Amino acid sequence: MIRIASKKNKYTYNVYHVVKAFFPNEEIIQKVDEKQEPLVTVELPGGSCFSLASGTVEEKLEGRMFATEEEHQQAVKRQVTRFLYRYLEQQTGRGLAWGTLTGVRPTKLPMEKLEEGVPEDEIIRSMEKEYFVSHEKALLACEVAEREKALLSRLDCESGFSLYAGIPFCPSVCSYCSFSSSPIEKWRDRVDDYLDALEKELRALGKMAQGKRPDTVYIGGGTPTTLEPDQLERLLRVIEESFDLGHVLEFTVEAGRPDSITAEKLRVLKNHPVTRISVNPQTMQQKTLDLVGRKHTVKQTIEVFYMARELGFDNINMDLIAGLPGETEADMRDTLAQIEKLSPDSLTVHALAIKRAARFGQEGRTANLHEEISRMVDIAYEGARRMGLTPYYLYRQKNIAGNFENVGYAELDKAGIYNILIMEEKQSILAAGAGASTKILLEHPIVKEGGKEANLIRVENVKSVNDYISRIDEMIERKGEWIWR
Ligand code: SF4
Repeated sequence: MIRIASKKNKYTYNVYHVVKAFFPNEEIIQKVDEKQEPLVTVELPGGSCFSLASGTVEEKLEGRMFATEEEHQQAVKRQVTRFLYRYLEQQTGRGLAWGTLTGVRPTKLPMEKLEEGVPEDEIIRSMEKEYFVSHEKALLACEVAEREKALLSRLDCESGFSLYAGIPFCPSVCSYCSFSSSPIEKWRDRVDDYLDALEKELRALGKMAQGKRPDTVYIGGGTPTTLEPDQLERLLRVIEESFDLGHVLEFTVEAGRPDSITAEKLRVLKNHPVTRISVNPQTMQQKTLDLVGRKHTVKQTIEVFYMARELGFDNINMDLIAGLPGETEADMRDTLAQIEKLSPDSLTVHALAIKRAARFGQEGRTANLHEEISRMVDIAYEGARRMGLTPYYLYRQKNIAGNFENVGYAELDKAGIYNILIMEEKQSILAAGAGASTKILLEHPIVKEGGKEANLIRVENVKSVNDYISRIDEMIERKGEWIWR
C-alpha cells in the first residue's frame, strides 16, 4: 500500500497519477492535510518516504518572474511533480516514457506550442527537459500534433459539427471490454425498439442542427454490424434524411467484429455514403481470441477484409491490442506480419489497461508487463511504418500498463478525423444512442458551479438500453437546452 498526503488539493491529481504510473498494482490511499508542513509526502511499500518542503520548491523557482499568482501556483505544482518523479525514478531504477505528463492527451502541449509558432526542435527539447519525456515519445507527440493540426484545418470547426450514432450490441462481450455493450442474442427482441428511439433522437438532432452541416459521421458501438441488413439500411437512411451530408469529409462505420460482417451488410454500407470502415482483429493469434471470448477466427478476419476490399472499400482500419493475456513479443510480431499482408489503410494500436490485465489472472506477469508491452508497442510502431502508415492521433487511458499510449497510424489521406475530434474537443459532437456523449462548444463561456468558466458542455445519454428506450424524450429534451442556444 502507498500513502500520499498533500498540503493542497491541487497537488493530488498529478501526484496520484505519477505514483500510479510507477506502481500500477499498488493500492494508493490519499489525503489532503492543510496543516502538514511538507507540500507532499509519499510513503512507499518497504518504508521509504518522499517528503517535499515548500522551501525546496521556492528555492528552485527563485529568480523567476510570474505575471499572476495562478501562474506561480502552476509552476509550484509542476516542480512538486518533477521532484517526486526524480525520487521515484531513483527508487525504482526506471523512468517513464512520458515522464511527468500524466494526462490523456500528451499531444496537447506540443499542439499549443505549435499554435504559438514555437519551432519543433525547441518543443522537443522542452518536453525532454521540463517533463522528462523520452526523446522518442517527444518526437512522436510532435509528429502527431503537426498532423492533427493539418487535418483539423480542413474542418469548419465553428459552423460545422460531427455526428455520432451508437449501436450498443456485440456478437459476444469480449472479456477485456471497457465499453457498455450487450450480447445481441439476448437483446434481439429489443433491437427494433432501440432503433425507434435512435431514429427519434437522430431526427430531433437533425432539426436542432438546422443550418449547420456535419463534417464527419461516425457509427460506433458496440458493433454496428450486429444489426441486420434492413436495420442498417434504416439507420443509414435516417441519417441521410436528417442531415445535409454534402460537406462530409469522412463517414465511418465501425463494423468491428469480423463475425458480424457479411457481404450483404457491406453492400448496404456501400449503397450509402460510407467512406471508411473498421475490421478489428485485436490480435491474429487464435489462442488469444479464444481466451478473451472473441468468438471469431483469424481466418474470418482475413476473409472479411478481402471481401470488403472486393466490394470497393478503400479505407479500412484495423485495431490491435498490445498486452492481451498470454501474448508474447513473438505473437505481436506474427500478428503484425499477418496484418502487413492485408495492408489496411490505417491501424490503431491500443495498450491493454492494467486493471484488465490483472483481471485476466495476469498478476504474476505485471512485474515484467511494462517492458513486454513497451516492446510490443515498438513492434507495432515499426510494423505500421513498414506498411507506410504514420501516426496521426494519440491518447492515453488512465491506468494503461506502463503509462503507454494508444496510437492511430494511417496513410496520408486515410486518417480517422473523428478520432482526433474526440480527443481535441475542437468541434461540437452531436451524439445519439445509449451511452452516447454529446459535446457542445459554446460561443460564449458559461460560469459553472464553483465559479469556473466552461466553453464546452457535455450532455450524456443513459447507458442502459432499456432506460434509453423508455427515456428517449428526456434525452432529446436535455440536448435541446444546449444545441445551439
Ligand atoms: S467487440 Fe468491441 S465493443 Fe464489443 S465487446 Fe468486444 S471489445 Fe467490446
